[in-house]
Amino acid sequence: MKRLLLAILVLGFSTIFLNSCQNKPTESKIKYAFLFIGDGMGQAEINTAQAYEMAINQKIGFKPLTFTQFPSVGWVTTYANNRFITGSAAAGTALATGYKTNIGRISMNPDATESYESIAELAKKQGFKTGIITSVSIDHATPAVFYAHQPSRNNYFEIGMQLANSNMDFFGGGGFKDPVRVINNDTLNVVKKAIENGFTVVNTMEAFKSLKSGSGKVIAIAPRLAGDAAMPYVIDGNEGNPSLADFTQKAIELLQDGNGFFMMVEGGKIDWAGHGNDAAANIHETLAFDEAIAVAKAFYDQHPEETLIVVTADHETGGLALGNGGMEYNSNLKALEYQHMSAEKFDLELIHYCKQLSSDNEKAFAGLMKLVGDAFGLGDTTKIKLSSNEVEKVKQLFNDNIYSHIVKGTEPSEANYQAITFHLLRLISNKSGLGWTSHAHTGINVPVYAIGPGSQLFEGIIDNTEIPKKMEKLMMIQE
Ligand SMILES: [Zn+2]
Repeated sequence: MKRLLLAILVLGFSTIFLNSCQNKPTESKIKYAFLFIGDGMGQAEINTAQAYEMAINQKIGFKPLTFTQFPSVGWVTTYANNRFITGSAAAGTALATGYKTNIGRISMNPDATESYESIAELAKKQGFKTGIITSVSIDHATPAVFYAHQPSRNNYFEIGMQLANSNMDFFGGGGFKDPVRVINNDTLNVVKKAIENGFTVVNTMEAFKSLKSGSGKVIAIAPRLAGDAAMPYVIDGNEGNPSLADFTQKAIELLQDGNGFFMMVEGGKIDWAGHGNDAAANIHETLAFDEAIAVAKAFYDQHPEETLIVVTADHETGGLALGNGGMEYNSNLKALEYQHMSAEKFDLELIHYCKQLSSDNEKAFAGLMKLVGDAFGLGDTTKIKLSSNEVEKVKQLFNDNIYSHIVKGTEPSEANYQAITFHLLRLISNKSGLGWTSHAHTGINVPVYAIGPGSQLFEGIIDNTEIPKKMEKLMMIQE
């Protein structure tokens, strides 16, 4: 009798348990879905931003970011079909379509003979509105995998044309890298094509602000663009531009009416700063990305039963570590506070400075060190002190790469300038207690954070291809 009772109890419990597990994802349909992709944002990048926020207030630890407080956390494997260390196109294809592919493909199979439908395209077919936002150019690999299908990520013009011909509702962020092509005396223009197809294209603050629900299909380009048609680095100031958070807020405003939306927001320059081993720029991009996520979180707080937010990365960039061989057990992340511009902007200032150099070597080098002190705090005795050996090394690099050209009357190359910038950035990282192993991507797992009904599906170790599949399941999207 006792045994029977126990059996009934166990059966009863397991039925309740199974039911609650099986039912959870389908309890309520997700009406509003956000996928945030921090390009190149591994765990080290997140932790560095968090530790920096504490260090500037003389504290040790990690300041919680909006997304690091999400209830569900998992790990994502990122490898591509044909390479262990992935790239943004292959990783983006996995995150957008649920398929592994080869390096460089934009939502196509490894042979580039077949297109894969993205979660944005599927969502659109089933009545959701769709928004694609990025801080880099809108035809870049990560945004492109959601609306385009190309054998190569470098087909910027073709990707732009597919954007113009797409039925997405909102594009926001950077501009186009290659929007014009002349074929048989015919000038084809991506923006013109988009307007013909019913898109409203805005690139002023005024026009951006006046966009409202009912504005129709929109392409909103940041008024002020930096290199490669991307938004400027956050550390360089975003005056006169909407921020990534502003773009996210505007997209919510425009897409909210109707049957729900799917929105992808990319923090694209975390990756670029990682490639450059530019720690301070990397931190500010990550924090700005978190501000965009905070906008989505505020929306979630109003619609918690029907909103899902998933935050992940396509891969890590730079092999960043919180510690280095020189500093061993010491850290000084506060030193990064003195950096006031990105490596990209410093390069431009360096070129400008070197164009008007005097032939007096001491004077020329003193001018360089003034520039370096203003930009990074390096060599400024009240900020980051340099030893005489460290100053000597910078001088040697300056003489070899720049001054030797001035004497000969030749032009330094881009690589000459970069040799100096890279060395200075390495010095700052070394003195902050950070380490970099690469100027490329790395193969380590990236984290995924999720909040909303069914967010527990993203816990554990999952493959990047599972992310869109799980989101589709929760949004009740069928292929
Ligand atoms: Zn990259």
